[in-house]
Amino acid sequence: MTTPLDLAIRNATVATSRDVTQMDIGIAGGRIVQLGRVGPAAEDVDARGLIVTPGGVDTHCHLDQVEPGMGNGAETLATGGRSALAGGTTSAVSFLGQIPDHSLTEVLQESLRRGEASRIDYSFHQIINDATPEVMAEVPQIIERGIRSLKAFLTYDAARLNDAEFLEVLEAARRGGAMVAVHCENYHAIGWLTKKLLADGRTGPKYHAWSRPKVVEREATYRAICLAELTGTPIQVFHVSCAEVAEEIARAQARGVKVWGETCPQYLVLSEDDMDRPGQEGAGFMCSPAPRSRADQEGMWDMIRRGVIDVVSSDHSAFNLTGKNGKDAAGPEASFAEIPNGVPGVGARMPIVFSEGVSKGRITLDHFVRLTAANPAKLYGLAPQKGDIAIGADADLVLWDAGRKVTLDNAVMQHAVDYTPYAGLEVTGWPVATYLRGTRAMQDGEVLAPEGAGRFLPRGRYKLAEPSSDVPNGFTAAEIG
Ligand SMILES: [Zn+2]
Repeated sequence: MTTPLDLAIRNATVATSRDVTQMDIGIAGGRIVQLGRVGPAAEDVDARGLIVTPGGVDTHCHLDQVEPGMGNGAETLATGGRSALAGGTTSAVSFLGQIPDHSLTEVLQESLRRGEASRIDYSFHQIINDATPEVMAEVPQIIERGIRSLKAFLTYDAARLNDAEFLEVLEAARRGGAMVAVHCENYHAIGWLTKKLLADGRTGPKYHAWSRPKVVEREATYRAICLAELTGTPIQVFHVSCAEVAEEIARAQARGVKVWGETCPQYLVLSEDDMDRPGQEGAGFMCSPAPRSRADQEGMWDMIRRGVIDVVSSDHSAFNLTGKNGKDAAGPEASFAEIPNGVPGVGARMPIVFSEGVSKGRITLDHFVRLTAANPAKLYGLAPQKGDIAIGADADLVLWDAGRKVTLDNAVMQHAVDYTPYAGLEVTGWPVATYLRGTRAMQDGEVLAPEGAGRFLPRGRYKLAEPSSDVPNGFTAAEIG
């Protein structure tokens, strides 16, 4: 007897993480239950001429992040989720901030409450920016509640960990079976350069890039990898901006260290020249690490093709250009050092990687699927439920018109942030429909998923987050394993 299907997507060119095949997809109970030639269904969608990929998995987005005072940024899981669905992303991993005077558990509770309005499926990374014994004692409970990744910053006044504190985080992750995601830039080098630049009257947004050159990122990346190697903890280096930094990751991978690298669309299509626009317009392109040169963008594509960089996330940040939560919060004459860092991109990520990658012939379709869905899902313990088109997986699907040309602007993005740094960029290839667990969530740009359509994704133990036993002299493994 065949399973009765709720939905059949027929005659599609289906791109999975492994290959591209002409077939039908049969869906029941929100999951993919048949592939190939599938039986009768309550609803049929003819996808002839379209490409079907898994829904995007964006494992680095600041959506509904609880801010000090239990406040919020400009983007919620409801509004960011709307943008995600419009751009073909169905799952996101946001962040739990560490908030003064509140326990980690309180922030998790508040984030889960906010998540009830999400339009997409979601999970969280736990940020540790104050690795006190009290905080670290709470981490095992947080991990056990399905927050199986910790985030560390090696820079920013309010967030940065010194090496000893970072080691505490690596140890806690190792003990709990969690991945560590890390922002790698040298705090003191940036501080020193910033002081010199400001003293010299070089205050505009373009000097943001001058304050944090590649070597600052490369040094911190090498140091983070070495410390993770010492404890045997798996790590992912967030937002790698250039090939020189990716080389540090490649070298470590070659000697067997469990380290992965992520990049973001801003390092593939933006450059430091964008920050050199008149007045404070350049502030809209400021993120850290800073976008580099055009040549560096090609360097990143090489690293993607080599497999050194195997995830592209958005690092969607919830700063407006002006007003509340604005880049101009410190006034129109603020120096680069006072302007918040980060750019929005949860909706832009999939179309940009499709267009710049697949349409321009830099990568294959199955590679696109690995970069934007399958690899992030595996790395953060969301597979096999998320990230691929396979029997038993959630029916999170995107139907693409590979020939459609769209010029990006803020209305197209459908997020709450008041601008997009990708305005004016023409992309070839566009998502025409998105399905979340078998339900149509977006059609022709209209987001149909209501608030609350999304679900929390607790993450259990998984292979890639298991610590390495191969640590120097064996002592560390015995002591903290
Ligand atoms: Zn981030």
